[in-house]
Amino acid sequence: MTTALTDNFGRTIEYVRLSVTDRCDLRCHYCLPEGYRDFQEPAEWLTFDEIERVLRVFAELGVRRVRLTGGEPLTRRGLPELAARLSRLPGIEDLSLSTNAVQLKKFAGALYRAGVRRLNISLDSLRPDRFAAITGGGHLGKVLDGLMAAKTAGFAPIKLNMVVMKGVNDDEIEGLVRFCLEHGFTLRLIETMPMGATGRAAAEHYLDLQEVRHRLADTFELVPAVMPGGGPARYVQVAGTSLKIGFITPLSQHFCETCNRVRLAADGTLYLCLGQDDKLELRPLLRAGIRDGELKSAIRAAVAHKPERHEFREQPGKIVRFMARTGG
Ligand code: SAM
Repeated sequence: MTTALTDNFGRTIEYVRLSVTDRCDLRCHYCLPEGYRDFQEPAEWLTFDEIERVLRVFAELGVRRVRLTGGEPLTRRGLPELAARLSRLPGIEDLSLSTNAVQLKKFAGALYRAGVRRLNISLDSLRPDRFAAITGGGHLGKVLDGLMAAKTAGFAPIKLNMVVMKGVNDDEIEGLVRFCLEHGFTLRLIETMPMGATGRAAAEHYLDLQEVRHRLADTFELVPAVMPGGGPARYVQVAGTSLKIGFITPLSQHFCETCNRVRLAADGTLYLCLGQDDKLELRPLLRAGIRDGELKSAIRAAVAHKPERHEFREQPGKIVRFMARTGG
């Protein structure tokens, strides 16, 4: 019998976002610099055995949900095997994946069989040339193939994540809504965050999603909605349809008071907040032979000091690490 993992603000942590690599096969300009190669070496990553152990300990501390992310998680060799190991852990009830879907056609079936059920897929544009420009040369066709393979494999829900940028892709929001209506996907619109130099540069394209919500209401009849496991997004539904649209608004309306998550980076750094530097390095502890009981105490102590909130608005220069490094 364990007591829940709680912080000093009374929040219960039941969700781990697990980055399995900081590498990515796209270079979205707001995320990683063009030509960026300063990645961690694979020897710095936690091994599958180490990840499984840490997640087992988290599950014993009350964590129920795990999301595989990165970088691009599908670039880590053997991901379906890791997924299968994590989905078998006692206590883990929900295993999901965030991906750019470039390689999803190949992996969708294996991931579903491994126990992954929910997918978040990044998709900022449905125009091949614009998609290539935003992602540093990505092929939209591969992503669409991946999306259709995911549908066929049975994933539900499939949520499309669109980072909305003024003058870059904000003229495509209604098009994305229609695409999701047609295919039964959920749409989530995201404000750019000032993470790393790239995220800060993207701030010139920042668009307040409260405005976008009003704009969408001119075209679609929107009613308030809830999404089970919807995380930080605030949802509306297009009346008379099953389409839900989520707004992730870290800048215009932050949601830190309900934060229930921590992030484990590929190298074993446990970040307590996406927008703060507070962390606990787990890899040295694991490789020094720490026992489970001590590991639990170290995690409890770190989580207790989870920062109250990010300061993306007040201190946009604070976070120098890229989103891909933390695990988006
Ligand atoms: N590669 C996977 C994917 O594409 O979903 C997982 C990692 S990616 C870093 C996770 C999400 O972070 C993506 O939806 C991406 O668009 C978003 N992202 C990256 N940098 C961002 C930034 N500066 N502001 C807002 N969203 C960002």
